[in-house]
Amino acid sequence: MLGLMQNQPLLISSLLEHAARHHADTEVVSRTIEGPIHRYTYADLARRTRKLANVLAGLGVQTGDRVATLAWNGFRHLELYYGISSTGAVLHTLNPRLFQDQLVWIANHAEDSYLFFDLTFVPLVETLAPQLKSVKKFVLMTDRAHMPADSKIPDLQCYEDLIEAASEDYEWPQFDENTASSLCYTSGTTGNPKGVLYSHRSNVLEAYGAALPDTLNLSAFDSVMPVVPMFHANSWCLVYACLLTGAKLVLPGKDMDGKSLYELMQAEQVTFAAGVPTIWLLLLQYIEKEGLRFTTLKRTVIGGSACPPAMMRTFQDKYGVTVLHAWGMTEMSPLGSVSTLKYKHKTWAPEKQNELLYKQGRTIYGVDMKIVDDAGKSLPWDGRAFGNLLVKGYWVLRDYYKSEPGSTLQGGWFPTGDVATIDADGYMNITDRTKDVIKSGGEWISSIDLENLAIAHPAVAEAACIAAHHPKWDERPLLVVVKKPNVDLTREEMLKFFEGKIAKWWMPDDVIFVDELPHTATGKLQKLKLREKFKDYKLPTA
Ligand code: AMP
Repeated sequence: MLGLMQNQPLLISSLLEHAARHHADTEVVSRTIEGPIHRYTYADLARRTRKLANVLAGLGVQTGDRVATLAWNGFRHLELYYGISSTGAVLHTLNPRLFQDQLVWIANHAEDSYLFFDLTFVPLVETLAPQLKSVKKFVLMTDRAHMPADSKIPDLQCYEDLIEAASEDYEWPQFDENTASSLCYTSGTTGNPKGVLYSHRSNVLEAYGAALPDTLNLSAFDSVMPVVPMFHANSWCLVYACLLTGAKLVLPGKDMDGKSLYELMQAEQVTFAAGVPTIWLLLLQYIEKEGLRFTTLKRTVIGGSACPPAMMRTFQDKYGVTVLHAWGMTEMSPLGSVSTLKYKHKTWAPEKQNELLYKQGRTIYGVDMKIVDDAGKSLPWDGRAFGNLLVKGYWVLRDYYKSEPGSTLQGGWFPTGDVATIDADGYMNITDRTKDVIKSGGEWISSIDLENLAIAHPAVAEAACIAAHHPKWDERPLLVVVKKPNVDLTREEMLKFFEGKIAKWWMPDDVIFVDELPHTATGKLQKLKLREKFKDYKLPTA
């Protein structure tokens, strides 16, 4: 017997309509590429997005067409997020930080038919355009006054001209909620990037999951700043969850330096912000140097790579900002887990509570996880056994775009490539990427644990721990450190700092000081590059 409830498809257009109707005057504030702050409301967003739908129809965009963007976080990108998906086409967010060859490969693999891009990327698109085989039209996301006088890009269109000329009458179509809504390629440190094709259903369900109290706890009482780019895994779903809850949205544009972020946060009374540790490092360095405080910021979600406990403590103890340590992947739309306490932890001492909060946390309803050994056998949830982390759920990938169907999952579970422990209460802790673990004499050493410890030293700005070849132990930890400006730190002092805090055999065999560490296009430490750089490094213990 089937239930007799309405069966409305979960469509992205419903989020836009909800925000326009129930939060019509809630603001969307953007720092524009052109310079000034732009400000409008959810009602304005909905009106202009209906115009955009007519623009897309006029350009010839068909259902299922891939429409690419090369853009920062801003109101026009937001209109494209909603407009492209809601007409039944597929929003393809390209990551401008990738190498040009990778961008060309991705756009051709996705067979993008249209490309919308920010002013910043005019020179880049001029170089790419001749190689983009399937792109029929290029649209520059700016107004007439900022259009380049002579551009090498063929038949370049002006976004604002197109919007201005379009009618605002448009009825969002209804279709199957499993229709593809958007496409994002993983940064992939090896091999070609892989496309993750989201559906309307997966994105709407994730937006529900993201808003829950034990996830990001978003509400119409919040002013939210996604510093995480809109080209990185749906900007962690915030652009959907804000319209679902009616939170104010503050989009920081291209300026990711501490000063720009801080000033915008203060001016727009941001209560909630989201970003990767490397960006927050810059922000904290800036406010520490200037002796500033956050006056409105209450919570920040940090993920994308492990958030060092030292950073969480600074936010919490010094600035009164609660850090939500989250873990996820492009393949998971991306939210998988967030660390928040349970009722029974209420009476625990703060240090003990923090030990839980430093972990990557509990799964959100809608995602399930398990850890397995190399033979695929489930490992116990005892907080000690660590193994390969597998997930499944409402917003987890089944197959990569254009891959052999059924070639990705293992018995219905997606192998994340992460290594983790899970404790009896379900708190998951990532110890490494599978390929980053250091295998010393057959035993695993967590590079993340060693990095977290190193960064807790007051003279350390950033640290990476990689495996270096050792004739006896096969691999031993090599610590690569970036010092804070104008401080002294020796190898011996660094190693002394580890004493008593880790098992003796985890002690790095050597410390190297460098000016900077390599990062991926999404701000993660690029350990593959470091390993290559130090592949012939001779450890003093070797
Ligand atoms: P991406 O798909 O580019 O977002 O990368 C996903 C990967 O980033 C995960 O598989 C993890 O290896 C890593 N990652 C994301 N969040 C965290 C976190 N909080 N702690 C440690 N690693 C993380």
